[in-house]
Amino acid sequence: MDLKHDFPAAHDAERITQETIEKYARYVNPTALNLLKLAGFDKIEWRGCGATITDLQGTEYIDCLGGYGVFSLGHAHPEVVAVVQEQAAKLPLSTKTFLNKPLADLCERLAQITPGDLQYSFLSNSGTEAVEAALKFARIATGRANFVSTTGSYHGKTFGALSASGRDVYKTPFAPLVPGFAHIPFGDVEALAGAVNGDTAAVILEPIQGENGIRIPPRGYISTAREICDAHGALLILDEVQTGLGRTGRMFACDYCGVAPDILVLAKALGGGVVPIGATVGTPTVWEKVFKTNPFLHTSTFGGNELACVAALKTLEIIERDNLAGESARKGARLLAGLRAVQERYPNLLTDTRGVGLMIGVEFADPDVGKLAIGALVHHGVVAAYTLNNAKVMRFEPPLVITDAQIETVITAFEAALNETAELLADLMG
Ligand code: PMP
Repeated sequence: MDLKHDFPAAHDAERITQETIEKYARYVNPTALNLLKLAGFDKIEWRGCGATITDLQGTEYIDCLGGYGVFSLGHAHPEVVAVVQEQAAKLPLSTKTFLNKPLADLCERLAQITPGDLQYSFLSNSGTEAVEAALKFARIATGRANFVSTTGSYHGKTFGALSASGRDVYKTPFAPLVPGFAHIPFGDVEALAGAVNGDTAAVILEPIQGENGIRIPPRGYISTAREICDAHGALLILDEVQTGLGRTGRMFACDYCGVAPDILVLAKALGGGVVPIGATVGTPTVWEKVFKTNPFLHTSTFGGNELACVAALKTLEIIERDNLAGESARKGARLLAGLRAVQERYPNLLTDTRGVGLMIGVEFADPDVGKLAIGALVHHGVVAAYTLNNAKVMRFEPPLVITDAQIETVITAFEAALNETAELLADLMG
C-alpha cells in the first residue's frame, strides 16, 4: 500500500480532526476529551509502525506509552498482521462446537513457557476478564472466600477485579463491591504475614505495581509471599498483565525470583498489539477443582477465538526468536540511565527515576508539574503517560522493539520538555 496516499490533504485532516473532536464531545466522553486536549493528545491516531505512531496530520511520535504494555512488538507488527489476515479470511471466530487448533496450540505453548507446573489456560479478551477468572478459580479451588490484595494495585475495572484493586477513587462510587477483599501495603512482608490465614483463598499481587507508578517491591517479597501462601494453603495469583512477556527484561517478572504462582494472569502484550486476548494460566490442582464437576462453569463467547490465538502464538514466537526480553533489559538500562541523568539536572522537579527493563517511571515532586511536562514532551514528538493510580509518575513503557536511536531521541526530548517546564514555572512564579 502506498502510505503517502493514506493521509488526507492538510485541510481535510484538520476538518476530520475537528469533526472527531465534536463527536467525542457529543457521543463519547466530553470530560476525557478535555483531559486529552490539555495534554495535547487531541489528534487522531492514524498509523503505527514499530515504536512510531503517526497522527492524521502526518506528525510522528515515538510511543513511550506503548498502550500501557500492549505494544511490546510495536505497532502493526507485519508478521502478526499477516497471520491474523490469513486466519480472518479462513475462520476468525470460534464456533464453540468443534475443536479449535490455534487455541490448543497456544495453551500448549503457554504451559511450556510459564514457570513451575502451570499447565492449563483459560482464554478471554482482556486483563480484567483474566483476573475475574483467576479470582473465581481461586475461590472454587480452595473452597475459601477471602482475598488479600495490596493498596495502590490495579487489576481491572469489572466488579471482581475492581474489588481486588487498591484505589478507592475507582471503587467507592460502585459500592458495595465483592466482599472478602483485604488490602495491605505493597511490599510489606509483615502486613502480608498478618493478613493471610486459613480463610484466605488467594493473595493477588502484581510483581511490580504498574498503574501505581512503577513500584518495585523489596527483594524477596514475592518469594516470601509464596511461602506465606503455602503455610496457609492459600493460592498465589500473580497478575502479570503488564509485567509479563518480556516487559521487565525476563519473560515473566516472577522469573527474577524463581517463584511460580498457582495462577498467572496475562493479557496486554499477548495479542501482539493486534488482537485483544487475556489468559488465566493455572496448575492441574486448580483446574481439577474448577472444571472437573462442570466443564462450563466459566466460559466466554469470544475468549480463545482463532484470530486472537494465532496472533498470540506468533507473538510468543517473535518474543523468543528476537530475544525481546533481553532487548528490554538492555534498552531499559540505557533509558533508565538517560532519564536519571536528566533527573539529576532537575532535582527540584523530579524526585525519583526507577524501573526494571522497559517499565520505567519518573516521579515528579508535584503532579501538576508532571502534567505540564507530559504536554511539553508531546510537542517534542514523544508520547508518555500518567499512571492511573499515581498522578505523580510519568511512565515510559515503549515497544520492546524501540531502536537505540529512538531511545536517545526520547532522552533528549525529555530533557527539552523539562527545560521548558522549568522555564514556564519560573515565568508563572514571576
Ligand atoms: N492488571 C494489570 C496489572 C493491569 O495493568 C491492567 C491494565 N492496566 C489490568 C489488569 C486490566 O487490564 P484490561 O484493561 O485489559 O482489562
